[in-house]
Amino acid sequence: MRTILVVGAGQSGLQLALGLLAEDYDVTLVNPDGPEEIRAGRVTSTQCLFGPALRRERRHGLSLWEDRAPQIRGVGLRVAPREGDAPGPSWLGRLEEPARSVDQRLKLSAWLDLFVRGGGRLIRHRVRPAELPGLAAEYELVVVAAGRGGLAEVFPRNTARSRYDAPQRSLALVYASGADPHPDGPALSRTAVPGAGEVFSLPVLSLNGPCDALMVEAVPRGPLDDPLPATAHAGDVLDRVLRVVRRHAPWEYERFAGARPADPMAALTGGYAPAVREPVARPGGGAPVLGMADTVVANDPITAQGANMASLAADVYRRAIVDHGTRPFDEHFMRGAFAEYWRRARQVTAWSRVMLSGPPHVWELYRLAARHQGTADRFANSFADPTGLIEWFLHPERALEYIDGLSRPAPVGGRSR
Ligand SMILES: Cc1cc2nc3c(=O)[nH]c(=O)nc-3n(C[C@H](O)[C@H](O)[C@H](O)COP(=O)(O)OP(=O)(O)OC[C@H]3O[C@@H](n4cnc5c(N)ncnc54)[C@H](O)[C@@H]3O)c2cc1C
Repeated sequence: MRTILVVGAGQSGLQLALGLLAEDYDVTLVNPDGPEEIRAGRVTSTQCLFGPALRRERRHGLSLWEDRAPQIRGVGLRVAPREGDAPGPSWLGRLEEPARSVDQRLKLSAWLDLFVRGGGRLIRHRVRPAELPGLAAEYELVVVAAGRGGLAEVFPRNTARSRYDAPQRSLALVYASGADPHPDGPALSRTAVPGAGEVFSLPVLSLNGPCDALMVEAVPRGPLDDPLPATAHAGDVLDRVLRVVRRHAPWEYERFAGARPADPMAALTGGYAPAVREPVARPGGGAPVLGMADTVVANDPITAQGANMASLAADVYRRAIVDHGTRPFDEHFMRGAFAEYWRRARQVTAWSRVMLSGPPHVWELYRLAARHQGTADRFANSFADPTGLIEWFLHPERALEYIDGLSRPAPVGGRSR
């Protein structure tokens, strides 16, 4: 049996570890926390997963909350007007397949239980960079899926692919019970406040049942930025978020004004600089280790893609490992596995950059979507498959061509798109 070590029990690490266990690999998982600590910890994400990631989980018997997690049927956008201006565009794109968000505390603790019950070896430990050479010599393959934390720094930053050296948004997230439903049905709803950031809301299945997440993504030091320490109580985070939302997204304030935190740990604040790193590191000059998901490609949550990409990364790496048979997991293999992932991940990185900077053509597309349902639907379904965005959304020239194409009268006898 080939021996594989996975460092980190997040979306990608656990999905890969469980997938390899099912293929009869000898899998060891190292993570500081066990299932109880994960459940008792802070929320980590809004973790909205779209069709392809959910299908992957179903295929591998990992979709354990299908009947309880609220279905998210659309992606909505509302542009907040500047003070004194008329209401900005507002629309809801319909998802072809429903999305779902299951609190990672609930999901990852249950997956970790599954892993141990299935015969996987769990080591409770926080790996230090200095330990990696020893581990790389001991196991046939070491995959580092430790998220954006300190271990990621073992992988050199790819300066050509990383545009930022500071966080582009300050994040404040809280899960709340007792919010009113979204007026257009269950949706991932985004309010864009030009120049200042975004407000997101979505239904989540959390520890105590369904609730709603409310998140502010503030341009640092801008009008939405009202920072709190990472240790702030969920009640304080909710109060602070509501204060911001009341002023800048009053429609969300109306929904959440009577809500309370879903549990004492249901809040998260902070921020991080998006980064793309080299996929392979040779700590201490020894055998190579392979980085996965956020460890090597961390985008801002503005496009709600990190967990979806973590799911993709785990799938791509699992297949690469299995297809590699009994050959050694050398650097060539590792770079090949990452290249397959990067083919798609690069589009998400490009999309995140465009969403963070909000160039004029994006606002033009938002205005178009308010009067053309096909555009709203196309935007919504890009969250499930962002690869087509390159054709109409990412570049100003293509976007303007797309807009022109829709505003041209249809040829006689033809149909408008
Ligand atoms: C506020 C917010 C909202 C988000 N919303 C969405 C969304 O709606 N949709 C979406 O797709 N994505 C979203 N994301 C992104 C998504 O949550 C992450 O991209 C995804 O969870 C990354 O998975 P991962 O497996 O790479 O790492 P993680 O899930 O971060 O897991 C890393 C694991 O490694 C462990 N670890 C860390 N260091 C060590 C060490 N030294 N030794 C051993 N173990 C270690 C950690 O304890 C953890 O268990 C959001 C992120 C944030 C911050």
